[in-house]
Amino acid sequence: MTTTAVNIPLLLLMASMAIAAGLLMSAANQPSPIREAQRVWALGLVAGPLGLALLRLGGLLEAGLLQAAAKTIMTAGFSFPLIALALISGASIRWRALLPVVLVLAASMIFLLRFPEAPMRTGLLSLVCSLTCMLAAQHAWHCVSRVETPYGRIVAFIFACGAAVLLARALMLFPMTGVDNGLTEMLLAAAVLIPALATVSFVLVCGDRMLMQLKLIASTDELTGSQSRRAFLENGRRQLNEARTRNLHTAALIIDVDDFKLVNDRFGHGVGDQALKKIASALRNQLREGDGFGRLGGEEFAVLLTGVNEAEALATAHRLREAVAGLRFSSDNISVPLRVSVGVAIDPGNSPDLDRLLERADLAMYSAKRNGRDQVAVSPCFEAAR
Ligand code: GH3
Ligand code: MG
Ligand code: MG
Repeated sequence: MTTTAVNIPLLLLMASMAIAAGLLMSAANQPSPIREAQRVWALGLVAGPLGLALLRLGGLLEAGLLQAAAKTIMTAGFSFPLIALALISGASIRWRALLPVVLVLAASMIFLLRFPEAPMRTGLLSLVCSLTCMLAAQHAWHCVSRVETPYGRIVAFIFACGAAVLLARALMLFPMTGVDNGLTEMLLAAAVLIPALATVSFVLVCGDRMLMQLKLIASTDELTGSQSRRAFLENGRRQLNEARTRNLHTAALIIDVDDFKLVNDRFGHGVGDQALKKIASALRNQLREGDGFGRLGGEEFAVLLTGVNEAEALATAHRLREAVAGLRFSSDNISVPLRVSVGVAIDPGNSPDLDRLLERADLAMYSAKRNGRDQVAVSPCFEAAR
């Protein structure tokens, strides 16, 4: 064996270990699932070159078991990035991605036990790794839409190249004749480099995934899971403008829980929180898919309905009020009464903006409170209803 043949896998291993160490350090500060994905990717970075180094040693020592272990570890070098990309894209493939590793291990052991004189020299390893690379490319591509990251394309491209290189190697090895050993060795070394080459783009994908998570946190109300005030207003402005361009009416509903302070005072803040969750879910269940719904703050919710006339908006408001009044909620076997007052305002098509529409709905809601609570009121210019 030449000095170069020994050194290349070792050099790859050392470089990959350095990148993996950096990635592991960065992973410690990441939220889930980015943390897990980066750790698994780091394992993959080391596994490939380690497998290659062991394979060379196996060749040197003619040790069948060592070769089987080397091929299994090398396959893990492609399966781990696949798992990492599945974690980032939110796919459920996860540990099934280790099947190629099991397959290569099983095939290596069968060859070792049944044909000890003819170890697995076919292109099976390359073929399995090529398919794994292809799947990794597919999951990286999914990241483009699911994580809204352009860098998923680069990762997908690099893994697709890896798949092509490994497929070419498999095709050269299957006939087992006239094979240029040097060339196939080079192709294997190039393929082992694939996860390392894709690492920078993978980290950028992780950055976009982090951004996506932050946006989700900012747009979701933690307690009820409904839209936050900011997201409701942002999406609401869009919904109102779209409705106007399509000449559709929009109705805003403000829903405030009645005497909620008493609920907190009597049953405690924890029970109050549970009550808010139940109320939010009861309200959401009454709405259509395109209706806007969010928690404006405290015990106040808002709804935006598009394409409804006055009667339909009022019918929805009554339905929402009844849904809350019909809730059965208790603490320590004591029934907790839950009621809401609803204010309704309809956009006549010329009110200046969403804020003004919500303001009118809010005034209507306060008039429902003044009239005795647990009822619906409409903004002036429309008849009050009960
Ligand atoms: P009204 O019928 O006039 O609306 O009476 P109210 O008691 O509901 O109104 P008020 O504004 O006096 O009290 C609102 C209460 O809502 C006070 C506050 O402690 C409670 N609250 C606001 N946010 C939360 C929350 O996230 N969890 C809990 N448990 N209580 C909250
Ligand atoms: Mg209230
Ligand atoms: Mg309130």
